[in-house]
Amino acid sequence: MGYNISTMYIWRYFNSECECPMCKIKQIVERDLADQYLSEAVMEDAERAKVNKLGFCASHYDLLYAGRNKLGLALQMSTRLNRIIDLTKIIDDDKKAKKLTQKLKDNTETCIICDKIEFHMERYFKTVPALYHDDTKFREQNFNAVKGFCYPHFIRLVENSSKAGKYSKQFLETITQKERDSLTKLKEEIDEFTLAFDYRNKTLPSKESSASLKTCRLKVYGDFPLPPERK
Ligand SMILES: [Zn+2]
Ligand SMILES: [Zn+2]
Repeated sequence: MGYNISTMYIWRYFNSECECPMCKIKQIVERDLADQYLSEAVMEDAERAKVNKLGFCASHYDLLYAGRNKLGLALQMSTRLNRIIDLTKIIDDDKKAKKLTQKLKDNTETCIICDKIEFHMERYFKTVPALYHDDTKFREQNFNAVKGFCYPHFIRLVENSSKAGKYSKQFLETITQKERDSLTKLKEEIDEFTLAFDYRNKTLPSKESSASLKTCRLKVYGDFPLPPERK
């Protein structure tokens, strides 16, 4: 297959009833990386240098903050702040202001965990169609068992269809059909939900249609933590 990663999670989630198995895999990758950045391993010089350079995005900072190693996070942020302080030059004219803001944007809109997730996920997106090519059971049972994918992950899998080799036609037909079917079903649930707001309608919406806006969010954007609901 040529992509030296464990296929264990692919086998596990391409059986399940979830809306997108790739989101489940991404969550595991993200959790493992967060654990890594809260462990002793990140105190090694090479890792520290990467954290200093890239830092963490807001959602990954929050994820680390919610973890058990506040000291580890503080030590990493201490050296990261050194770098940002270093970049924050004292200036006194508009031309320099433009240069400074660009430099700060380039150096603060970065995240070491996002980069690493992307690195691992890129390999998963290639491995799924490759496994579809290599393994009859995966092709005929597991891949057929999934409902569909969130839109960002559907796109990534379709982009890698050539990795399914001689089965790429079958891979594309199956995945596009699945995506259309699952979106059509979602649209029906959304429509049923809107009908529940009509006072003439006496029937209660089904469980699926009540959850349809949440499913819509997952399907369009991917499965990651929701902000707390407003009462
Ligand atoms: Zn997904
Ligand atoms: Zn991030």
